[in-house]
Amino acid sequence: MAHPSFSQIPSVNQILESREVAGLSDRFARRLIVDAVRQELLVIRERIGNGTFQINMVDLKTLGFQVEQRLVKTTQLRFQPVINATGILLHTNLGRAPLAPEAVEAVRNTASGYCNLELDLETGKRTSRQNIVRDWLCRLTGAESATVVNNNAAATIIVLRATSLGKEVVLSRGQLVEIGGGFRIPEIMMVSGAILREVGTTNITRLSDYERAISSNTGALLQIHTSNFRIRGHTQSVSLPDLVGLGHQFQIPVIDDVGSGAFVDLKPFGFDEEPLPRESIARGADLVIFSGDKLLGGPQVGIILGKKVWIERIEKDPLMRAFRLDKMSLCALESTLQLYLDDNQALQSIPVLAMLGIPLDELNRRCHQVRKQLDGCPWIESIQVLEGESFVGGGSLPDQGLKTWLVEIAVGDNNAGVIAKNLRSNQPALMTRVKNNRIILDLRTVLTQQTESLIKTLMTVETGPTRAIIQGNSIAPDLLGDESNGNEIIEP
Ligand SMILES: *Cc1c(COP(=O)(O)O)cnc(C)c1O
Repeated sequence: MAHPSFSQIPSVNQILESREVAGLSDRFARRLIVDAVRQELLVIRERIGNGTFQINMVDLKTLGFQVEQRLVKTTQLRFQPVINATGILLHTNLGRAPLAPEAVEAVRNTASGYCNLELDLETGKRTSRQNIVRDWLCRLTGAESATVVNNNAAATIIVLRATSLGKEVVLSRGQLVEIGGGFRIPEIMMVSGAILREVGTTNITRLSDYERAISSNTGALLQIHTSNFRIRGHTQSVSLPDLVGLGHQFQIPVIDDVGSGAFVDLKPFGFDEEPLPRESIARGADLVIFSGDKLLGGPQVGIILGKKVWIERIEKDPLMRAFRLDKMSLCALESTLQLYLDDNQALQSIPVLAMLGIPLDELNRRCHQVRKQLDGCPWIESIQVLEGESFVGGGSLPDQGLKTWLVEIAVGDNNAGVIAKNLRSNQPALMTRVKNNRIILDLRTVLTQQTESLIKTLMTVETGPTRAIIQGNSIAPDLLGDESNGNEIIEP
């Protein structure tokens, strides 16, 4: 039998016809309004059932407001800009590299209309969508040819298929990496149809180890940049020129997965272990692969440089159709590459490189400015500007921090995890670090035009758990989902 008071709850139709809800039809589709009303009624029934709500508390005005809030929440876009105050430059969870304004403009120009994606405007004939970026890549890296796919994972698969389908790929045990998100080299070999032939040990691999593994069934020698870990101590590995020498002696192609693919030398920033694709080409690698959205600072793509014969074979693989880029990524990539015609232009315009290059005293100045602007913020107990480290992230340069200045905020009796969670649910969302019940901001990754918004968000954030979206006479339970304390670790 139904709960006795349920019959007194207004019906869906009564609610739909009420002034509060009827007015919503200007802004929302009827189907969505009906759905929201039903959801609201379910919540009321449930709460009456468990005794947390009484029937005489239902009033149409509050109900109308709840329905409206629910509609606003369910119809808004879920993809949103995030202010990244973590100091992790290439945060995979935050979309890795922000695009240069020039790249965004190029996408806008071509995406809103038609473009010459596969059309040679001179001849009027069909052409390959790879040709435009191929030209840029060859010019910038000295490669004989090039092609692009969706990401470096796809590049790895298609390169292994072209060189080593049903054949062995020789790889040092020290380079059997997991990049993250289930991308593990042995499994990638399996799906690409190549056979993994491990040589050497975790810490020591010599040229003779590779040489002994070579047989008539060897497809390629593979080198993988150990982007996200380092082996220290008693170690030995084979240099690329030595590997290339061996490969060419046996007419076996050498593949170099450089991971991040920086196009400018990062030594001036203190990073001396980051390989440059053009150096791999100059050292004779037959194929060089890397991501476009790591230190290159472009869109998510996988770039393949190399000898023409291999690139042609790769482009004939039926999988190429599945892995190829769309017009927006291609435009963003071309525009990003164009910026590298001049290193100084790239260092200025490409956000990741510009962030790497912010001088320490500039960061210190920004920290003190933010500290001053947060004066009088009610939940802040104290603020310090401290030395700390930024990180490249995105699986690049794992153990090398970059000196920075941090704003460290003590929160008194409040819970910094809860505050961090509320900062994330703001619009725009603000991502901070949380440590020892303090909120920590690294302004290196905060775009200057976001500073004002960052201050506003911090000044107005709720410090307690935001249980319901509506304060006061609340009917709806937590529509924002879980009640985690905001401390969950987000993997770079
Ligand atoms: C990041 C990385 C990959 C994967 O690249 P995605 O573009 O994320 O698919 C592969 N290999 C290395 C060495 C990497 O650093």
